[in-house]
Amino acid sequence: MTMVREKNYWLETVSIPAGDPGPLPATVDVAVVGSGVTGLSAARLLAKRGARVALLEAETLGFGASSRNGGMVLTGMKLPVATLISRYGHDKVRRMYAASLAAIDCVEQIVREENIDCNFSRCGHLEVACKRSHFDGYAEGAALIAKEFGHRLQVVPKSELDKEIGSPIYFGGLVDEVSAGLNPARYIAGLAQAAGRAGASIFDHCPVQSVMRESSHGEQRFRVQTAKGSLHAHDVLLATGAYTGGATPRLRKKIIPIGSYIIATEVLSEELAHALSPKNRMIYDSKHFLYYYRLTPDRRMLFGGRAAFFPETANTVRQSAEILRRGMVHVYPQLRDTKVEFVWGGTLDFAFDSMPHTGRIDGMYYAIGYAGHGMAFGTYLGSKLGAIICGQPNDLPFEDIPFPAPPLGLRSGHTWALPLAGAYYRFLDWVS
Ligand SMILES: Cc1cc2nc3c(=O)[nH]c(=O)nc-3n(C[C@H](O)[C@H](O)[C@H](O)COP(=O)(O)OP(=O)(O)OC[C@H]3O[C@@H](n4cnc5c(N)ncnc54)[C@H](O)[C@@H]3O)c2cc1C
Repeated sequence: MTMVREKNYWLETVSIPAGDPGPLPATVDVAVVGSGVTGLSAARLLAKRGARVALLEAETLGFGASSRNGGMVLTGMKLPVATLISRYGHDKVRRMYAASLAAIDCVEQIVREENIDCNFSRCGHLEVACKRSHFDGYAEGAALIAKEFGHRLQVVPKSELDKEIGSPIYFGGLVDEVSAGLNPARYIAGLAQAAGRAGASIFDHCPVQSVMRESSHGEQRFRVQTAKGSLHAHDVLLATGAYTGGATPRLRKKIIPIGSYIIATEVLSEELAHALSPKNRMIYDSKHFLYYYRLTPDRRMLFGGRAAFFPETANTVRQSAEILRRGMVHVYPQLRDTKVEFVWGGTLDFAFDSMPHTGRIDGMYYAIGYAGHGMAFGTYLGSKLGAIICGQPNDLPFEDIPFPAPPLGLRSGHTWALPLAGAYYRFLDWVS
């Protein structure tokens, strides 16, 4: 373990473009805050539609979760479909599920149109059952999804699971062929270049410090104060995910920032990689405190999980390397002697109800709360909100659902109760 580099492996595969060196424009149509998939996808769309756009990023481009994640572009949402239907009703959930499928098409279309070299592939995802009872629920879940949405999932019994995964520990699986995988840092780099080509001005190292509403000649606009000066914007789109901070305190209160950590091994032989994941799926297990894993395009095993619930610090990242290595060897005993070369962490955007949300807060647009489905939803909702700001009707199914705030103790900046939440989820995994 001494050789592990505390570094995001994906950033070794691409150089992230720098922002514009010039001064901020005095006035724009839209200021987009945050340069993850949501912000970049929105900025690209807005610029293509002819809007004057300034994208403002506090750190380097894609600094947040978008360049650090598992690169899984997944169908569906975090919550089971039956739970969604009982909460929101059939019609609404049909539209939500359709949005989740359209989101994957949206990623694919952008990758094609902009020629983004990010190893996008419709490799499908595999959920693996950690308990027999979890597997027993798969057939019913797949039947409900087929009936409600006409979308086919494939239930894989234990006897056939070796065609999908080289691990003996699971009770069966569920495959969705529509999901995809990509290299997230290369995707971010390509999206940033595409937004720039379309005419968006992109500023890195430019934290937004406050946003004030103003009225000028009877028209409402925003004054956006940043560390590099201020600008006026007709509209503001907040795309700050789990990294939402004090500049937008009302949105910050809505989000639970959850730490997630990933290790990447040394490059594996072709035979071993094939034995671990014969169909190169995006894989995750059925627990609350789940593991997610996949092969990288250069054949490393990338293995992630919530080793600690806290947002990442040097300490949690270091501890995670060994916790995740043990988890990986439990799943794949074949990797007992394989070196782990990278470990890193990031912070996920969770709403208290585990749902994506779009809307307006203090007059500013936002899209947030993707709960592990941000590569697809962030791309899609960013583009959709861009189009809505340009005047397209708002038909988003996440717009008018309740957006409950988490209790203090789970909120960004006050996360003292997160270990309790972690313990609660471990308990659920034990009993259910
Ligand atoms: C380890 C890990 C693994 C994950 N795996 C997957 C996966 O496999 N598939 C999947 O779909 N999702 C995954 N996710 C979740 C996914 O990465 C996120 O949902 C998604 O990237 C959120 O995108 P975003 O653009 O909304 O926000 P982010 O990518 O988090 O970007 C927000 C940006 O806003 C900036 N910002 C914040 N405040 C300000 C300010 N005041 N001024 C200027 N800029 C500001 C931040 O610096 C940051 O760069 C994972 C997340 C993590 C952490």
